[in-house]
Amino acid sequence: MNTIIGIDLGTTNSVTAHLTQDGPMVIPNALGESLTPSVVGIDPDGKLLVGRAAKELQILHPDRCASVFKRHMGSDWTATLAGRTFNPEELSSLVLRSLREDAEAYLGEKVDRAVITVPAYFNDHQRKATLNAGKIAGLKVERIVNEPTAAAMAYGFHEGRKEKLWLVFDLGGGTFDASVVEVFEGVLEVKSSAGETFLGGEDFTRSLAARVLEAVGLSFERTELVAPRLVSRLMQQCEIAKCRLSREEATTIRVPSNDGDLGPDCRQITVTRAQLQEWTANTLARVELPIRRALGDAGIGWKDLDEVVLVGGATRMPAVVARVTQLFGKPPQCRLDPDEVVAWGAAVQAGLIACDRAVDDLVVTDVAPFTLGIGISKLFGSERRDGYFLPIIHRNTPFPSAALSRWPRWKPIRPRLSSRFTRARIAGSRITCCWASSCCREFRAARPVKPWRSASPMTSTACSRWKPPSWRHGTRRRT
Ligand code: AMP
Repeated sequence: MNTIIGIDLGTTNSVTAHLTQDGPMVIPNALGESLTPSVVGIDPDGKLLVGRAAKELQILHPDRCASVFKRHMGSDWTATLAGRTFNPEELSSLVLRSLREDAEAYLGEKVDRAVITVPAYFNDHQRKATLNAGKIAGLKVERIVNEPTAAAMAYGFHEGRKEKLWLVFDLGGGTFDASVVEVFEGVLEVKSSAGETFLGGEDFTRSLAARVLEAVGLSFERTELVAPRLVSRLMQQCEIAKCRLSREEATTIRVPSNDGDLGPDCRQITVTRAQLQEWTANTLARVELPIRRALGDAGIGWKDLDEVVLVGGATRMPAVVARVTQLFGKPPQCRLDPDEVVAWGAAVQAGLIACDRAVDDLVVTDVAPFTLGIGISKLFGSERRDGYFLPIIHRNTPFPSAALSRWPRWKPIRPRLSSRFTRARIAGSRITCCWASSCCREFRAARPVKPWRSASPMTSTACSRWKPPSWRHGTRRRT
């Protein structure tokens, strides 16, 4: 049987790993590096580039390259590179294809099965788009796993059965997730997840670039329009400076010319770590709300946590460590590499799917990060209004899970035909919310529910056979 690889498809960088006898290991790319930049470009000769080559091309040809497209997964956003239009799925599939080819070269075998991680706060459209990207890249996506859950699995694999309650603080390039995880009697249970899909290291880099431009009398938005090469090169300079300020107190940033050149007479701005912290304080403050929500949903307080674990490259910033220490009253832990830990967890999940003996005694449960339900219309007098939502499975319900809701005939609500089913793929399960026809006269008048069989690799549950399952909330099952 071919190896199932684990892929952390990141906003800024992607990482691939596989499970070996010695535990999860990163698969280096063709350049021997563990991180592959999630950048796609087309060079002036029309050659498609992915990874570091595309990132380098982006400095001088930003119009020929696309990056940070994970933020647009599941949306209508497109990028036009050298006259060719790509949607986020296609761009992601190019990154996945490159990772797959690198894994094949490294492992010396055909690779066509993968576990891919996504932010816990990705919605169903974004998860579906990730699944499609995998298919386009020639991969059978065995499972979509939440990034903080994957990180928790990597820690669970390395640290065994130590009972504790912790918070996974996952600040990557583009997204932030906070998840409360409990290890109890050998079971790793995600109790709650909350997050933001537009909060990550990129926002810190952008704030720094905006301040540097301000210092030379320019505005970020306008310069982005009139001199994209300047902004592209400056973003790269600012990312290097931001990472340097994690180790040093001060650094200099060279401001490129409008063509993106860094000649000997270009202006230099000195930036201190304190300035970076001041300029990005508002961005960092946004982590607090999802943390409060995750703790509230898990029914615990700040002081109940045994530890906070840092995941994602952006947690290397001293300001992040200081903020977490201040919030929780104790310093966070970072025992596993924050860049690689999610891919390791994906490899552990791949091992669970392949029934690898290395993960024989690992049991993991996850939660639904969103409330799931159906769109309905409501009757106000004689007027029926669309656009209402009827929750059925509430956020942070443990998975796999199912619920059946019944409404009396007199209730003035009706499901919208287009959203009779609401499906979600989380932790490898599919939720199907459907109306039981006997409960609602209005619905019976509508078209009958057709039996629906999933073609997805995630599950083959047929709607016609759907019934309240024997799983109960909190039941611990292997995901
Ligand atoms: P990830 O998606 O986990 O690879 O995280 C990528 C983000 O982490 C990017 O925004 C990087 O700029 C940021 N990052 C990586 N290393 C550092 C560092 N040493 N200091 C600050 N930010 C970093």
